[in-house]
Amino acid sequence: MADESCAHIRGLETVIQPQQHVCEECVKSGSHWVHLRTCQTCGLTHCCDSSPNRHATKHAKSAGHPVVASAEPGERWLYCYPHDAFADY
Ligand SMILES: [Zn+2]
Ligand SMILES: [Zn+2]
Ligand SMILES: [Zn+2]
Repeated sequence: MADESCAHIRGLETVIQPQQHVCEECVKSGSHWVHLRTCQTCGLTHCCDSSPNRHATKHAKSAGHPVVASAEPGERWLYCYPHDAFADY
């Protein structure tokens, strides 16, 4: 991992891939999303900060799960919320 990543990102042994390409919170409420992020602690997939509901950020803060991976096809990067750190993988 790159040096600018944080201990959370460096501590990941494998990157959890999304189980499904939907935000399940948006599906429940009938909303829509722009991009998807997969939580690297519990594997749930939620919508990004460009989406109206920002479920990935809400999940990270409420559940205390720090790191997400992009769930977009062809994108291979991780982001840590508490450290505001990005890393490619
Ligand atoms: Zn971190
Ligand atoms: Zn959502
Ligand atoms: Zn989580």
